[in-house]
Amino acid sequence: MKIAIVGAGWAGLAAAVKAVQRRHEVTLFEMASTLGGRAKTVQTHGQRRDNGQHILIGAYHHTLDLMRELGVDIPQALHRIPLCLIDPNGSGLALTTTSSPTAFAMAVLHHDAWKWSSRLALLRESVRWALSGFKCSEDLSVEALTRGLPQEVRQGLVDPLCVAALNTPPARASARVFLRVLRDALLTGRGSADLLLPSRPLGDLLPLPALDWLQRHGAEVKLRQRVASLERSGAGWQLCGGHFDGVILACSAKEAARLAQDHDPDWYRLASQIPHESITTIYLRCVGARLKAPMTFLPRGPAQFAFDLQAMGHASGGFAFVISAADEFSRAAGDYIEGPYPATLEGAVRSGQFAVEGLVGNISAMQNTIPNRGNS
Ligand SMILES: Cc1cc2nc3c(=O)[nH]c(=O)nc-3n(C[C@H](O)[C@H](O)[C@H](O)COP(=O)(O)OP(=O)(O)OC[C@H]3O[C@@H](n4cnc5c(N)ncnc54)[C@H](O)[C@@H]3O)c2cc1C
Repeated sequence: MKIAIVGAGWAGLAAAVKAVQRRHEVTLFEMASTLGGRAKTVQTHGQRRDNGQHILIGAYHHTLDLMRELGVDIPQALHRIPLCLIDPNGSGLALTTTSSPTAFAMAVLHHDAWKWSSRLALLRESVRWALSGFKCSEDLSVEALTRGLPQEVRQGLVDPLCVAALNTPPARASARVFLRVLRDALLTGRGSADLLLPSRPLGDLLPLPALDWLQRHGAEVKLRQRVASLERSGAGWQLCGGHFDGVILACSAKEAARLAQDHDPDWYRLASQIPHESITTIYLRCVGARLKAPMTFLPRGPAQFAFDLQAMGHASGGFAFVISAADEFSRAAGDYIEGPYPATLEGAVRSGQFAVEGLVGNISAMQNTIPNRGNS
């Protein structure tokens, strides 16, 4: 089958690799001059720079598997540390060994800055979430889910975890998605909650290895080519002068809505209503300065996290400050439409791979119902 993929962010790249592995003929269209979308490396002032600081966690199994398939040396590309949410004074929750439910419980019990009643309340609540299968009603917010926890636990753990994992403040973040991430981090094998901090530019983690892999496997990658419209053509689609049996929209929700407007009004309405949360990274240089940990939580803001880039394997004196979900800044984080994951790299990779499975299933079903499909 001939498949067009619109957008070469991590979702489009994951979809392209999956479709080629399923032996389809793939053309990938990207309107920018660089691959990677919202997680890419650009050349600026003669230097390679990431468009924004990213973190992965050990539970990003689909992303890590894909990177391995593309030949990325994971230990070299990602600096792995046990989950650690400490403030600039070094106080906070820090797992001492690679993560597991027991390591989490031990870290909570040893967190001297919290009262004993707070530590026990968190453990009790965690057990309750585990017993409910980490599930809750769909419209519950993280704030509502954790209202019963002591304030020091919410401020020291829930709030930073929520902003880091979901890029949304607890009052607006989905408790269902939060619990899903928590479940995967604590229960999907040793190291799932570990923080994986990029020690290579983002472009080297997936976009460039994917480009190399796709080109070696015969896929066509068209940079600087914006897909302006999508037309029905028999049982397939016409775009950018080519005919395709199927199309995957791996672009932003707004662009996907625009392209689908004439073909699926219900989906157009849904996609055009998806709000974005902003996320901003400020890079600073201060030679000689160091932080107590590679990633530090800043409880007093305006940034929520500071990264010591030297501790992650980059040149000395580099720091990144991340301001999440701050509406006054530009609107730019990932989209989330369906599936268990929030707008993250893992969500993007999973959605790209999921789209290939869904598309191929749909086309096969359609072709089975169309007579003389060889001519259509
Ligand atoms: C600053 C920042 C920090 C982040 N931090 C983290 C983090 O720490 N951890 C984490 O997991 N996630 C993080 N995210 C979120 C993560 O980057 C995104 O969820 C993910 O990159 C989205 O990938 P995507 O492929 O779905 O979309 P995108 O990356 O937006 O890719 C869409 C692509 O489609 C292209 N396109 C759009 N329209 C067209 C068209 N008509 N024709 C052709 N091409 C088109 C765009 O140019 C773009 O390249 C962060 C995001 C930002 C912005």
